[in-house]
Amino acid sequence: MYARVVIRVVRVLVPLMLVCAMHTVGSAAPRRSYANHVVVRVPAAKSATIALLRQRGVLLGHGAVPGATISAILPRTNLADLDKLGAAYHVAVADVAAVVDAERSRLAGPTSQLGTWFSDFKTGDEIDAYLDTLAGVDSDRVSIIDVGTSFEGRRIRGVRISTPGTNNPTLLITGTQHAREWISPMVTMCLADTLVRDADSDPSIAAVVAGLDVIIVPVVNPDGYAFSWASERFWRKNRNGSGVDLNRNWDVSWGVGTNELPQANDYAGTGPFSEPETAAMRDLIASLPNLVGYIDYHSALGAVLYPFAYTTELGSFGDRPQVWAESMSAAITAVHGEPHQALRPGQNSPTGGLAMDYVMTSHDALAWTVELRGMDFVVPPESIVPTCEENLAGFVHIADQLIAEYGVTPDPDPTPDPDPDPGSDSGGCATASHAPGATWALLMLIVALLARRRRS
Ligand SMILES: [Zn+2]
Repeated sequence: MYARVVIRVVRVLVPLMLVCAMHTVGSAAPRRSYANHVVVRVPAAKSATIALLRQRGVLLGHGAVPGATISAILPRTNLADLDKLGAAYHVAVADVAAVVDAERSRLAGPTSQLGTWFSDFKTGDEIDAYLDTLAGVDSDRVSIIDVGTSFEGRRIRGVRISTPGTNNPTLLITGTQHAREWISPMVTMCLADTLVRDADSDPSIAAVVAGLDVIIVPVVNPDGYAFSWASERFWRKNRNGSGVDLNRNWDVSWGVGTNELPQANDYAGTGPFSEPETAAMRDLIASLPNLVGYIDYHSALGAVLYPFAYTTELGSFGDRPQVWAESMSAAITAVHGEPHQALRPGQNSPTGGLAMDYVMTSHDALAWTVELRGMDFVVPPESIVPTCEENLAGFVHIADQLIAEYGVTPDPDPTPDPDPDPGSDSGGCATASHAPGATWALLMLIVALLARRRRS
């Protein structure tokens, strides 16, 4: 299965080569300089150290609680202040400007010679265009979803991949709630690309597409993402005022464990769903009556986080979110040996407002947050495909379990339906729960053959 992603990389996408020779960010916003800045990592950080890092630098992690390892970007001159506090730290990146400038120079030039979509990071516009490309590949199974509009008026878009004529449960995938996590839209787009292109050629992907409706929203925070390209590489929040941390803005124990200062990286907004991006996602989710699973992709840690972040209590699913997070972590790790572990966030400090907690409490669907590999937001483009490959394995693992648990199974009774008129009891739609097993299998075979013929 994993070789397939590599194969796809060498499968030249001619239209994209024609239009994507250069990356454009199209903004005149001033660019933040990281000259003379370093990345420090402080293990077992104390409160005073965290306060100093918060005041002088940019925190890089998802939570900053005493006792945890804290990473931050800091002017080199402020290292003396850390010394005064007696903080044990190490400099993980000695020249942040060099790292950011190298990435910017590479992306401003011609795309790599491979010229394929997953050979380097993509702007929001390029992601939008590729969603349309995918919808054009298989218009029967793939449709574009307009989720809503961001604070600055950008479209939030996604794709739905579903098999026509089915009534399958829904698995929702989101990426890029946090702007600087550029590997997140690449991985979520890779999942979409694989489901669209390999549904007829790879049995494991065919099983997922046959058994689930998959909705993928690769960029929940398009304004922040554009700002991180144009102006401030390590920007995390949306672009409303000083910015709101979208993954603290959902209506579940809102405000618990978050910072009340609007300038803070984990500022939760003025109230639950105060931001147009999270409100749009809330409305999308409310429109999915058969939602059974949700995975939200972030970076970077190498972990599968399971609910809840806001409480230590187990929900209606008992320990299943943890057990599945452990097996998903193992599936991801097995592909390239990149270590991933299952973790419950908020262990040291309850945190409210997370998307996965909202989905599980409000919609009774299993939910996880994947923190993709590594510890950095600026990562080499060569890591995109391996990160895709290992997370495809984790995704398929969860999808298979959801299908086994919630999938619509064909009626095992081969007795002919005494009322063969499909319009009389199913509204004319031959759903899986109504079709007898043999008929259903034949229907699926015909659909697959027609799809293959149309594509060849
Ligand atoms: Zn994040």
